[in-house]
Amino acid sequence: MKIEKGKRRPWAPKRKAQTGRKEDHSSFYNSTAWRKLSKARLAKHPLCVHCQARGILKEAAVTDHVIPIRQGGEAWKTSNMQSLCHQCHNRKSAKEKL
Ligand SMILES: [Zn+2]
Repeated sequence: MKIEKGKRRPWAPKRKAQTGRKEDHSSFYNSTAWRKLSKARLAKHPLCVHCQARGILKEAAVTDHVIPIRQGGEAWKTSNMQSLCHQCHNRKSAKEKL
């Protein structure tokens, strides 16, 4: 394998700040208060809203923020919450990263 000078090296870690920002919110999602609320909410709203919109009844696995917290969404407002299955949640998260 030939390595050209000046080419990007994907193995070289850089932009440490990005991962640091993400960790701030993971501490919120790992908090006992959030887990409790999320679980209680899922018991009340057990179906994935995205699947439901497409006529599919699928059990939700997570409580998602309609507007992500890092985009200014309110963390504790129930109107900013929705139940999603893993698939829909992953798809939504992937979209938000773009
Ligand atoms: Zn779904």
